Amino acid sequence: MSDKILEVIKSAKRVAILVHESPDGDAIGSALATLLALRKINIDADAIVSEYPFMFKILDKIELFKTNSNLEYDVALVLDCSSVNRISNIDIFNKANITINIDHHDTNTSFATYNLVDRGGPACCLTLSRLFKSWNIEIDKSIGSALTTGIITDTVGFRYNNISDTYDFVSSMIKLGVDVTKLYYKILTVNTMPQFELKKIAQSRLAFYCDNKVAFTYILEEDDLKLGTKTGDHEGIIEIGKDIEGVEVSIFARFQDGKYRVSLRSNNDVDVSSIAAIFDGGGHKQASGFVTDLSLETLRDKLILEVSKRL
Ligand code: 5GP
Ligand code: MN
Repeated sequence: MSDKILEVIKSAKRVAILVHESPDGDAIGSALATLLALRKINIDADAIVSEYPFMFKILDKIELFKTNSNLEYDVALVLDCSSVNRISNIDIFNKANITINIDHHDTNTSFATYNLVDRGGPACCLTLSRLFKSWNIEIDKSIGSALTTGIITDTVGFRYNNISDTYDFVSSMIKLGVDVTKLYYKILTVNTMPQFELKKIAQSRLAFYCDNKVAFTYILEEDDLKLGTKTGDHEGIIEIGKDIEGVEVSIFARFQDGKYRVSLRSNNDVDVSSIAAIFDGGGHKQASGFVTDLSLETLRDKLILEVSKRL
């Protein structure tokens, strides 16, 4: 499949690189690395990413992203996205003659003309690192920093889904001169002041259910308005409950654009992607999410019931 994808990309007039809505570090890193890699082999490509969390501004050449585009693209390359209904800038995808899907989600629906899905892999960025090698594209420092970013964020700082390939790749990036410590700090560790204030609110609301095996917290629209939070300031809140001893499942809901956006994390065997799927969401066994119109109370009760069935 990797050779076929390269052949399709090489014969394209113009390639659009797309990611999922509310893009995270893996989506951003994947889009930037792929944009730079394709331009290296003289392919006319654009990455169309409408909005992304502020901390990724430190990435070299991220200013090449287009927020939108009216150009014609015959090939649409979708990265880190499990299903069609999550694609940002879907009109570009719909207009393309040929579509390509490169991803690592277990729940990926193989929605494109060509699908390369590394199910269960730690990050789309790691999948891409292998792909670029097989295409003989040199991973330079800028591409390497973008790929390392996706690995750091999707493994939450090497805490999830650790495989030796990840460490081999990151080790090779350190040899190349990528400042992994700085990326880790700027992207994962440092908190903005509003982010810290949000964490305090979320921590004060943290409630436990099912013999303290389930942790639940939330952020309201008024909290965001009061603190002037930006996209990215909610990162880390889900980990507060998750990192408490004995907690199996951590739930975080926040109000955004008239709906609740819900994150689920599992520490052990509970498959939270099966719970997210009930609400038309998805993700991985240990990290999933969805968006819902339900009220906070109904949402909480339904989720606790679903988790309790799986404990
Ligand atoms: P997060 O909680 O960080 O937003 O998302 C965790 C994981 O769940 C990510 O892999 C993300 O792709 C997936 N995810 C989050 N929200 C949704 C959603 O609304 N639909 C689907 N299909 N997956 C989601
Ligand atoms: Mn990912």
